[in-house]
Amino acid sequence: MFIDGQWCEAASGKQREITCPADGSVVATVAEGDASDAARAIDAARRAFDDGDWATSSSADRARLLHRLADRLEGQKDDVARLESLDTGKRLVEARIDMDDIVGVFRHFASLAQAHAGRVIDTGMPDVSSRVVTEPVGVCSLITPWNYPLLQTAWKVAPALAAGNTFVLKPSELTPQTSIWLVQALHDLGLPAGVANLVLGPGGTVGAELTTSPLVDLVSFTGGVETGRTIMAAAAGTVKRVALELGGKNPNVIFADADLPAAIDNAVTAIFLDSGQVCSAGARLVVEESVHDQVVDEIVRRAGHIRLGGPFDEQAETGPLISEDHLRKVASYVETAVQQGARLRCGGERAGGDLAGGSYYPPTVLDDCTGEMDCVHEESFGPVLTVETFSGDTRDEAEDAAARIANDTVYGLAGAVWTSDAGRAERMARRLRHGTIWINDYHPYVPQAEWGGMKQSGVGRELGIDGLAEYQETKHIWHNTRPAPAGWFAMPENA
Ligand code: NDP
Repeated sequence: MFIDGQWCEAASGKQREITCPADGSVVATVAEGDASDAARAIDAARRAFDDGDWATSSSADRARLLHRLADRLEGQKDDVARLESLDTGKRLVEARIDMDDIVGVFRHFASLAQAHAGRVIDTGMPDVSSRVVTEPVGVCSLITPWNYPLLQTAWKVAPALAAGNTFVLKPSELTPQTSIWLVQALHDLGLPAGVANLVLGPGGTVGAELTTSPLVDLVSFTGGVETGRTIMAAAAGTVKRVALELGGKNPNVIFADADLPAAIDNAVTAIFLDSGQVCSAGARLVVEESVHDQVVDEIVRRAGHIRLGGPFDEQAETGPLISEDHLRKVASYVETAVQQGARLRCGGERAGGDLAGGSYYPPTVLDDCTGEMDCVHEESFGPVLTVETFSGDTRDEAEDAAARIANDTVYGLAGAVWTSDAGRAERMARRLRHGTIWINDYHPYVPQAEWGGMKQSGVGRELGIDGLAEYQETKHIWHNTRPAPAGWFAMPENA
């Protein structure tokens, strides 16, 4: 762990082995901290914020540091991608793409750091200067998941630093290696001691301290909705700011008038990329009845040909699930779906043969799903596609039916609509209650655009301009340069 500019073991001396889910091999041994380690790290971050120079450093200096971090990652991309692949089991080629995205995220917030310095208000009073300035929020607890470990971390660390905050980072216990790389890189680049701290350990202890400590000002969390609820409640005790990214159950709507080969190919990528362990995965196919067979038969055929394999298998197209625990959850989700009447079209049982030693679950399609089934409402976070159909006698009826199904979820992270009718595309994009809508596409994102969820998919936004604002306080400064009595209350005689 890294606390107050020093590498250290856990106070208890406990350690944890990190295993690669592709084959169960041990790839690292790291410290396993507890609440006392988290408290030390929070103290260090508090002191660095209150007494150090970082919070008042110039935005140009902070931008420079983020650019240099991006340069360093570009130079070490293959090594860092390898660490990410070993922790997650993700294909090396995908981890390399993640590294490119992360470089873009650091550069985006580096430019933004200098662009939003506040604004001047015209009060109409010549002797008054009124301005709104931005300041860092303070000490930030950054809690991240295992699916895109360094990318999710960059979405938080980059704006936190750009705004001048100090932080304690707690990555998922399963995937700490690239966070270790990150804090070492920041230290090497001259970030003052105490600004960036890293504590490893379970959410139940380390995470609990990070979300309840009165010394913490903001909690930014990405992970499951249940944990999000716990964190929101924990943070309420001291009215901390919370930013939550809690995943989704994302509808991918295909109308009969769409370019079907493109829609089908993208539907396969939408759900099976990274074995479905993507918060914005297109896990709910909502397809117009007249093209259901054509679309679903082809998706099932394609799913059956997807090659699974480990991070360094060049023939593999996607990798294992993160852990045996997670695989059990995905398997039980599919079993319940089948019990409730879904039709299993492919997959549905863990992969055997050469893959038996890893946590591999094959691409799975559940057809004939309806709104009464748990599988269309709950996130599996695995390679499982549910299929629902809609129809309508008129154009408007078809759109109403599709929108009703696509919005029938407590989540609201992302969704897509496929149609060759531009008017319909725009109407549907406005009707879908999700934070990102793709029209005739699925999955691309850019750091310049906000990312986040409506409804129970979260609170706040990452990336874009709002992603920096999450880590900033605004302060209104009113300066009367010609002070005079207010004259509101009558001046008593002889006063
Ligand atoms: P969690 O939400 O449990 O974990 C995410 C992070 O939160 C981890 O660092 C975890 O620590 C930490 N954490 C856990 N409990 C607490 C707590 N009480 N206080 C503070 N921090 C805590 O996700 P899981 O890994 O268990 O996955 C569960 C489900 O979450 C998945 O099946 C999926 O549906 C969803 N998920 C969503 C993601 C997204 O991108 N939105 C990403 C990952 C998962 P640790 O695990 O180290 O104990």
